[in-house]
Amino acid sequence: MSDVNVFVVIIPGDEQAGGATGLLASARRIATAGMPGMVHAIVLGSPDEAAMPQKLLAAGASSVCLVSHESLVQPVQGGQLLELLLAALPGATRDCAKDKPSLFLFAASSLADEIAAGAAFRTGATALGRCANIQIQDERIVASRVAFGGRIKVVLSALATQCFACIRPTDAGASVLAGDAVVGQVREITCTGALTAPLTATFEAQPASGRRVDLAKVVVSGGRGIGGPEGFEQLGALASALDGALAGSLPAVDAGWVPVTSQVGQSGNYVTPLVYVAVGISGTLQHLAGIGPNVRIVAINNDPEAHIFQEAQLGVVADWRAVVPLITAHLQAEAVN
Ligand SMILES: Cc1cc2nc3c(=O)[nH]c(=O)nc-3n(C[C@H](O)[C@H](O)[C@H](O)COP(=O)(O)OP(=O)(O)OC[C@H]3O[C@@H](n4cnc5c(N)ncnc54)[C@H](O)[C@@H]3O)c2cc1C
Repeated sequence: MSDVNVFVVIIPGDEQAGGATGLLASARRIATAGMPGMVHAIVLGSPDEAAMPQKLLAAGASSVCLVSHESLVQPVQGGQLLELLLAALPGATRDCAKDKPSLFLFAASSLADEIAAGAAFRTGATALGRCANIQIQDERIVASRVAFGGRIKVVLSALATQCFACIRPTDAGASVLAGDAVVGQVREITCTGALTAPLTATFEAQPASGRRVDLAKVVVSGGRGIGGPEGFEQLGALASALDGALAGSLPAVDAGWVPVTSQVGQSGNYVTPLVYVAVGISGTLQHLAGIGPNVRIVAINNDPEAHIFQEAQLGVVADWRAVVPLITAHLQAEAVN
């Protein structure tokens, strides 16, 4: 029996966001630092891809537990996934010593926050929220988080041995084991009890602004420099031409130019697209905290001193109104030809 058990909890959408194997890498680091530890994976709902169990074993999971229910609605909802997790917990933790740390780790997202908090409440465990770093020290789970816009670091030492936490996944690239190391058990649990009735909502179809920014391959994001909702219509056209999603900074959300569900940053979404187009955004620490480390940033800003240019791979010093319509028209013309 190992001293530490770290369970990565994979939810639908994690793999598109590059989260599942990266999360495994983070879990392995936590589980193996200092004490003998094991990493297990719990996959809630249908895996994003059929090969996911093998990928998770290859990335270092000792076991993979697939938990499904035929009545799970699409798009998936936190309440229903929470019930699947609660159904899987007794079996998953059967071999875990009660006095040793058990950590349930999610890839940070709003949906994961909801499930992690609910699971901690329902099981009497500790919820650690979004963490920057997690370690096991003297058989205690110790997490650190930033607060007050990155000005201070808070260190939390959990009293409970069982904790539920969200963390930004490590870069998945380094996590795959050699082929002969791929061993482990895959179990399937099909839940049959009644699930919580799904919440229903009506969404208006909006080409780019309706897309989930945390799953998009291209994100076009506007800041205070856009100046108003009309400007965001133009950014939406650019996002659509790039087959991407429309996002915004906190001031743009506060002004009502873009919905809060599309906010990027420390108190908004964490995005990992291939390309992030930042328009009229200065590039504060709090905004950049929502952009993954390997994302290519293209910045359009009329201030050559704007901090975003220090982070961007491609920068355009210009008034966005002179540039964005030209790029959009060019892309639209290319699409027609
Ligand atoms: C606890 C905490 C949490 C926070 N969380 C978040 C968060 O999640 N997300 C977030 O974004 N912020 C967050 N903030 C706010 C953050 O500190 C900044 O205020 C914010 O990121 C600035 O947004 P901005 O870049 O849109 O605006 P500004 O900093 O005002 O930048 C506007 C930019 O637009 C440029 N500009 C102006 N006109 C034009 C034009 N015509 N063409 C081109 N460029 C132009 C300017 O040169 C400037 O660089 C948080 C702050 C705190 C304290």
